[in-house]
Parts: sequence; structure tokens; C-alpha cells
Amino acid sequence: MKFTRLLVTAAASAFVSAAAYAEGTVGIAMPTQSSARWISDGNSMVEQFKAAGYDTILQYAEDDIPNQLAQIENMITNGVDVLVIAAIDGTTLSNALENAHYADIHVIAYDRLIRDSEFVDYYATFDNFKVGVQQASSLVDGLKARFGDGPYNVELFGGSPDDNNAYFFYNGAMSVLQPLIDAGTVNIVSGQMGMETVGTLRWDGAVAQARMDNLLSAHYTDEQVHGVLAPYDGLSIGIISSLKGVGYGSGDLQMPIVTGQDAELRSIKSMLAGEQFSTVFKDTRELARVTVGMVDALLKDAKPEINDTKTYDNGVKVIPSYLLEPVSVDMSNWEDVILGSGYYTPDQVK
Ligand code: BGC
Repeated sequence: MKFTRLLVTAAASAFVSAAAYAEGTVGIAMPTQSSARWISDGNSMVEQFKAAGYDTILQYAEDDIPNQLAQIENMITNGVDVLVIAAIDGTTLSNALENAHYADIHVIAYDRLIRDSEFVDYYATFDNFKVGVQQASSLVDGLKARFGDGPYNVELFGGSPDDNNAYFFYNGAMSVLQPLIDAGTVNIVSGQMGMETVGTLRWDGAVAQARMDNLLSAHYTDEQVHGVLAPYDGLSIGIISSLKGVGYGSGDLQMPIVTGQDAELRSIKSMLAGEQFSTVFKDTRELARVTVGMVDALLKDAKPEINDTKTYDNGVKVIPSYLLEPVSVDMSNWEDVILGSGYYTPDQVK
């Protein structure tokens, strides 16, 4: 009798601790709410973690590095089991992650690689090089369709230099554009190339708009710009405002081909209005799904699913990663991809 009761008690407490372990708390540190994609990432994760039985603490740092650090330190103090971090500056988290490690907290880099730390367990992201390839391929397709065989006058914009992704996007794009530049089909009229020159700190649309204003007044008084490589929709919108400000998109001055990324609502609407040419859709619901799967596996002592063990060296080690497929979107497929996947409803894009 006693023996049976003991067994039952042991089984019950094993069950309770297993359940408590499985229903751990996940700290989610997101960079900013100024871009819709991160809001969608955060919401999808909270929803999906909840469905899988986890509690979450979701915080946005509004692109302020000390703010994000403080949020992460608080999550550590609050005893989360896992940290899921989309870093503002991928190089500033080393101390915080060391603290996480000593507190036995797993760390997943979300979308953006966390650099210079051995305490990053996994990385969930998209194929970031491919994003750049898709942006440049779409740019080239658009240039041909709108402006014939060329040569084309093009300007380049990069993402934030403290975001590892920005280099992958830029390098992916240049793998397509450099041969065309070498062949004289694409002219970078300003001569401004390389991430150190064309990068846009904190992915700030206003900074991109100001740089486009300067490029137009310094280099395009006699010439027409045909295309702009923009790596993120927020920059594309700023660039398009600048272009419209000097008359592009009206009269004889055709709107240049402007690319983008994230399929933000404003940019889908801009595409429908014949302004932005394309974007790259990265389904944040899928990224959340992969991340929840990683966390669940980690906390259950199983192996998270990964599909890349080579690409993402963070300066200390190569982080095992899961890369999702980005999808290039323009007027030819937006309904299928964006509405078809239910990312937005037809009412939202009106
Ligand atoms: C993300 C992009 C996003 C950019 C700006 C990058 O790290 O991968 O999807 O456009 O940050 O928020």
C-alpha cells in the first residue's frame, strides 16, 4: 500500500515537473514596433507559444540598444527558460548572453544573427543571401520590362550595418548586379557602392529618403534614374517619396524600379498604385512556427530541426540554423502569395 502510494506520488511529481518544464516561459525580445513585420513576428510567436503551452514575455525596444539590453537582463532575472532575440545591434549582447548562460537559459537568435557570443544555441531565419538575389533579380526584370535593354542608371541602398542580415542581402544582390555593372549594362551613376557607403543605420526610412534626395540633386539633374535597389519596404517608401518629390511617376518621367522586403501593407498598396515594383515576402507566421518548434525541442531535450550548419558564423562559432524560403512578390503573383496565404485579407489591401 505504502509502496503503491509512493509510486503514485513519484509518478505524479514526475508528471508535474515534466509539465512545468514543458510549460516554461519564453522571453521574446523584438527590435521595434515601427515596422509591421516585427509586430506580426511578436504576435505570431505569442499565439503559437501559448498554443504549445508556454508563457511568454514579449518586449519591443524601439531600436534603442540599451533598452533592449535592459529588457533582456530583466527577462533573465525573471527566470525565463529561453530567450528568443531579434537583436537591434547583433554585436552588443555578449555580456547579457553570458549571464543567460550562467542562469541556464537557452538562446535562440531570431531572424538576425547574434554575433560575437558562444552562447547562442540556434538561429531561426530566412535564406538571407537569397533575399538579396531575389531583390536584384526582380530589379533587373523590372528594368528590362520598363526601360528596354539598357544600359540602366541604378542606385544602391543597404540595410543597417549593425545587422548581419544587411550584408547577406547586399552580397546576394551584388552576386546578380556586379556582372551587369562589369558589363556596362548597369551604371551606378553616383559611384556609391559597398555596405560602408550605402548602408542605412537602423533601417531608417527617413535616412534613405534624405540620401535619395542628395543622390538626385547631385547626380540626376541631366540623367534619369531607372532603378533603386532597396532592401526593406520602409526604405522603399522613403525612396519613392523622394523620387515623387522631383516628379518621377508623373508626366514622361517614369517611376524607377524600386525593390523592397517584408511585404508590408504600405508597400503592397504602393505596388497596387504602380509605385513600388516588388517586395520579398517572408512569412513571419512560419518563422514563429520554426522558433516554437526549436524551443519545444530544446526544453524537451530533443534536437531542434535545422537545415543549415555552414552559413552563419557569428565570429565565435557557426550557429546551427533553420532557413526558410523567401518569396519574391510583384504584381504578377501578389494575389496568390499574399492573399492566397491569408497574410492579408482583401479588405486590408484596399
Ligand atoms: C530583417 C528584414 C527587415 C529588416 C528591417 C532585417 O533584419 O531580416 O526582414 O526588413 O531587418 O527591419
